[in-house]
Amino acid sequence: MPAKRLIFLGPPGSGKGTQAQRLAEQRGLVQLSSGDVLRRERQEGSPIGKQAARYMDAGTLVPDDVITGVMLAAVGRLPAGTGFILDGFPRTVPQAEALDRGLRDLALDIDAVVDFKLDDDEIIRRIEGRRVCTSCATTYNVSFLPPKEDGRCDKCGGELFQRPDDRREVIVTRLATYRAQTAPLIEYYSRRGRFHTVDSASGADAVQAAVARIVEAAGRG
Ligand code: AMP
Repeated sequence: MPAKRLIFLGPPGSGKGTQAQRLAEQRGLVQLSSGDVLRRERQEGSPIGKQAARYMDAGTLVPDDVITGVMLAAVGRLPAGTGFILDGFPRTVPQAEALDRGLRDLALDIDAVVDFKLDDDEIIRRIEGRRVCTSCATTYNVSFLPPKEDGRCDKCGGELFQRPDDRREVIVTRLATYRAQTAPLIEYYSRRGRFHTVDSASGADAVQAAVARIVEAAGRG
């Protein structure tokens, strides 16, 4: 089975990151999460991390050229033939256009775009319960995906924390940002085919099965 190249779209808290983690593990794909990349840059205190900080804390988007440069470089570094999931990138139409150009230069194309749908009340409920491993970035939820031991990552034993931008005040801005700047990508990608929608309300295991079916069929023929 050839390695797949995928884009996961959807509002914050829609489960796309969790599903990207699961699918990456299941199929040996590389998960390229733009949020994780930026959080790592911040931890390291790099110039990009410093530049991104105020946008991230406010729940707005870092400038297109900054994130596009970082993500295209990450794709370009993958060994030839590696499958990947772009998780959280692109997030604006200019980013999608830059990605198109970058992939063309690398002679790669995308097998499927998967859009994760979830209504705002459920998004807020999920984001408020989200906890992330400080060490390996695995995501949990205190209500419905709790770790086995309180506050500890099942996979690596790392400490779990609540992202500062997962507080309610910031979530509201992140949702507004999503609607204004990211939702137009649904139109952008649905016009070209290879576009799929998943109902995230059905729970992580059911969503995982739906994603697996899409990916299985993607890029055939
Ligand atoms: P996430 O973990 O995907 O929710 O991203 C956390 C924050 O990182 C966002 O609220 C943005 O400030 C920033 N960010 C992540 N991905 C992008 C992107 N593709 N474009 C601009 N900003 C981004």
